[in-house]
Amino acid sequence: MRIVFLGPPGAGKGTQAELAAARLKIPHISTGDMLRSAVARGTPAGKDAAEFMNAGKLVPDPVVLKMLEERLREPDARSGFILDGYPRNVEQAISLASLTQIDRVVFFSIDLGALEDRLVERRVCPQCQAVYNLKSNPPRVDLRCDRDGITLVQRPDDRREVVEARFKTYLEQTEPLVRHYQELKLLQTIRADGTPEAIAKEVTKVLD
Ligand code: ADP
Repeated sequence: MRIVFLGPPGAGKGTQAELAAARLKIPHISTGDMLRSAVARGTPAGKDAAEFMNAGKLVPDPVVLKMLEERLREPDARSGFILDGYPRNVEQAISLASLTQIDRVVFFSIDLGALEDRLVERRVCPQCQAVYNLKSNPPRVDLRCDRDGITLVQRPDDRREVVEARFKTYLEQTEPLVRHYQELKLLQTIRADGTPEAIAKEVTKVLD
């Protein structure tokens, strides 16, 4: 199964991709995670990417495509994968189609108005990557990870100004992919406005 998860920032794609990938025993490939790791390691690609990410813009297609190509060539991706965060515009969808066949696209449908707080209130553990929300899912002790006690941080692109830019980028460049994949008859739409458990059920329904 070669699967794409499509949807706006904050719709829960990453959380759901992690769960579904474990269940289906295929890798979860997140271009956002790959780019953040490149930024943290200070690689040339990471140096190129950081300014775009921190402005809520897309990293240039060739930079992301090169990373993705390398990742898809690894042996664990041969039997399938869940792609989270790629493609993000029509050009990327065309590049992806030339690399591999996609079997299904799951679109996380949710009103953008519901998402701003999710992102702005999100905090992550820099050590184990656990995700919290200061309002809806706060850590037990103020700003400390429940698992390892490390001080939580905010992703630089979760600041309100950047979140707004990410929504704009999404609407202009990524949302047109809904139509694109509908026309290719690959699209399965799920409601992404429930609890993580409810969304997980919807994902299972369209994938299993
Ligand atoms: P979200 O989907 O919540 O915005 P991601 O972690 O998927 O978060 O992406 C964070 C940032 O990484 C994006 O705003 C963008 O700058 C960059 N990025 C991730 N995937 C891509 C991609 N396929 N093409 C271009 N830029 C990307």
